[in-house]
Amino acid sequence: MIQSYKQQPKLLKNYDTIIIGSGMGGLATAAILAKQGQRVLVLERHYTAGGFTHIFKRNGYEWDVGIHYIGEMQRENSLMKNLFNYLTDGALKWADLGEVYDRIIIGDKHYDFVKGVKNFKAQLISYFPEEEKAIEAYLKLVFQAVKTSKNYYISKALPPLLNRLIGGFMKRPFYKLADKTTYEVLSALTKNETLIKVLCAQYGDYGLPPKQSSFYMHASVARHYFDGGSFPVGGSSQIVKTIDPVIEAFGGTILINAEVAEVMIENNVAKGVKMIDGTLFYAKNIISNAGIMTTYHKLLPTKIVEKHQLNLQLQKVKQSVAHVSLYIGLKGTPDALQLPKTNHWIYPKVGDHDSCVARYLKDINEEFPMVYISFPSAKDPDWLNRYPDKSTIDVITLVPYETFAPWFGTRWKKRGEAYEALKEQIAQRLLKALYKQLPHLEGKVDYYELSTPLTTQHFVNYEKGEIYGLDHSPSRFRQDFLKPKTPIKNFYLTGQDIVTAGVGGALFSGVLTAMAVTGKNILAEVMKKGAN
Ligand SMILES: Cc1cc2nc3c(=O)[nH]c(=O)nc-3n(C[C@H](O)[C@H](O)[C@H](O)COP(=O)(O)OP(=O)(O)OC[C@H]3O[C@@H](n4cnc5c(N)ncnc54)[C@H](O)[C@@H]3O)c2cc1C
Repeated sequence: MIQSYKQQPKLLKNYDTIIIGSGMGGLATAAILAKQGQRVLVLERHYTAGGFTHIFKRNGYEWDVGIHYIGEMQRENSLMKNLFNYLTDGALKWADLGEVYDRIIIGDKHYDFVKGVKNFKAQLISYFPEEEKAIEAYLKLVFQAVKTSKNYYISKALPPLLNRLIGGFMKRPFYKLADKTTYEVLSALTKNETLIKVLCAQYGDYGLPPKQSSFYMHASVARHYFDGGSFPVGGSSQIVKTIDPVIEAFGGTILINAEVAEVMIENNVAKGVKMIDGTLFYAKNIISNAGIMTTYHKLLPTKIVEKHQLNLQLQKVKQSVAHVSLYIGLKGTPDALQLPKTNHWIYPKVGDHDSCVARYLKDINEEFPMVYISFPSAKDPDWLNRYPDKSTIDVITLVPYETFAPWFGTRWKKRGEAYEALKEQIAQRLLKALYKQLPHLEGKVDYYELSTPLTTQHFVNYEKGEIYGLDHSPSRFRQDFLKPKTPIKNFYLTGQDIVTAGVGGALFSGVLTAMAVTGKNILAEVMKKGAN
């Protein structure tokens, strides 16, 4: 059972591994190391575990924060599927979103992304018949970018000497496409800006529009969902619930309300962690899942940061944009309210993604560059067992962190009237976007609450409330320090920043970090054992 640090549970002083943060990457690393026989302590500062996979409840409703759909769970023997099976001993189940996982809405037209790459291709060609060749070429490049990423990632887990010898060779094919922006690649295939706008509509899944994002990031997300989308049965809280027993079976513990103040380092060797109440825990390995910015800015001693010039590393990467999310509760079942499982992505009629984002970042009163609507209660087949006559909807858009600058340093729920008024204004705009697509919902909303970048900062400890950790620009993928091993002995990183944003990226980071810690080919073990 997940325990609260506040309850003063009986704990050891020494563990094999301590993990700071219980996000997807931290949990995956912990469960893999547990399966290697390690006793692992996972320390989570929030009052609930899971990082962005946590849920929260208010006014009799329950919302998932950072999972609306993941891909590859419908594909036999995929890494994701095997990995989740392996981590949870097969206990976590996934529900299919159905034939259409994403609906792209541009002005009064819509374009469906359908399950199965052949169907996806046929559907796109039906919208853009004159672009058949470009669509075929596009799909080839998507597969090529993803294929070359395997060796790129494996090189991140190699021991330093081996990395120096063969790392460059392993990574080279990957850079061919990852060095280019999404727009560079797509505009070489077609001059049809509407097709480009449609193909790039999932940019909201990583936060960076096509003229700024690496084509690899685009390809990775597109490929991820080609086999359809899936949602955890029972909601995203099932992730930590099904992983916890695996960690505990090997003597490990997940602790909530457990904030780490500092990593203890002696002679450049990580020895343990100091909690905010001053308590010390020791371990052979210390792993941070708190994001590289938080880790280097807040958790490492200044002397160590200076010694290894870690601040210079951080200057080479940027935090991703922040977001607001409107959590909506409605009375009535998802069926009665005719809620779809398909995600809705809504874009302005005029302008490409980059110009729409630029216009909005200058003035947030301009049209939202993207509105994403998700219907979690419709996706979860277990929902009605928990909430027989209720439904939920999430409406998300991007927002600059600086919009909330006047309230930096204020306390959660005590930020004042002006803050609440700004929230209400944004909430009304998002509700309007929802009603435009599903007009029958007007008058049916029972409860709503808007999260802001300050909410993300408060609960998940991201400095600028960033939605996806680091930006996914071409140069991000060139940064060799975004890997498990750090210049400090026995101190490692895990989580989305060392792979990519997304539950899949964070999950895979767990494999890489566990490989770097143990020196074992854990990927092979996962693929073998997870398939059974
Ligand atoms: C609104 C939203 C929607 C999303 N939708 C999807 C989706 O549909 N599909 C998808 O695949 N991905 C989605 N994502 C992305 C995905 O959720 C994340 O990329 C992924 O979960 C990040 O995992 P992580 O391992 O990096 O850790 P995180 O989830 O970032 O967790 C880090 C943890 O570290 C803890 N921590 C920080 N500092 C300390 C400290 N000092 N002491 C102890 N603990 C600390 C934090 O509290 C947090 O729990 C979404 C994200 C957001 C925000």
